[in-house]
Amino acid sequence: MAKKTATNYTNYTKTTMTDTIASYLTEARKAVAFTGAGISTESGIPDFRSPGGVWSKYQPVLYQDFLASESARKRYWLMKKEGYRELRGAKPNAGHLALATLEAAGKLVAVITQNIDGLHQDAGSRRVLELHGTSRSCVCLKCDARFDPDLIQERLEAGVEVPRCDKCNGFVKSATISFGQALPEHVLTQAIELCVQTDLVLAIGSSLVVEPAASLPLQAKQNGARLVIINKTETPLDYLADILVREPIGATLTKVIKHLGLA
Ligand SMILES: [Zn+2]
Repeated sequence: MAKKTATNYTNYTKTTMTDTIASYLTEARKAVAFTGAGISTESGIPDFRSPGGVWSKYQPVLYQDFLASESARKRYWLMKKEGYRELRGAKPNAGHLALATLEAAGKLVAVITQNIDGLHQDAGSRRVLELHGTSRSCVCLKCDARFDPDLIQERLEAGVEVPRCDKCNGFVKSATISFGQALPEHVLTQAIELCVQTDLVLAIGSSLVVEPAASLPLQAKQNGARLVIINKTETPLDYLADILVREPIGATLTKVIKHLGLA
């Protein structure tokens, strides 16, 4: 198959692209959105993997190291403490809001996301599958007790370096998935089911490199779904895209919902 790039669409005006996405959504019966960090950068949340992001400054703490080493746990919480205010203060942007609007109008079944920021829910999306967990909760690794991350942040700012569970003294960790930690199985199972059944995937703001981000849209495409990719940089699945958009996400999705009369 010929490698398709954004430049193949020079005859496609931007309006035509968003118009076509709108018509795909009208035709689809089980459309899903798959989102990555790119949709939240417009809310001021840096892509942790990009230059200047938290992960370029700190080595991410592997799950096994978190379990095994007090100094790894200290590093983990230092990093969390530093990024918390920014994450907590972020507000959903036009992209998040457009997806919530599509779901409310019955044009989108679910959002599958790699993001941990909770902004889809803040925007009003109801069915959100968080592959990498959520920063909106902390969890005891021993007894599963849940803690409000605001409370944990208060403790960190008060000088606690490694928060412990009030009930069992176990290690508390953000309810996000670390490197080396298994993805939540029930979430992954639902995501795979959706991608098998879907007839349209909107892959938004993800470089589609990290698994299962790479294989979920691919699986959908192989099952006959249409694939729309909206991302500022190239992805390994670009050659499979029915529509490939390099424009900003919020503006693009706003145009799409306008075409549908939903704005
Ligand atoms: Zn506990």
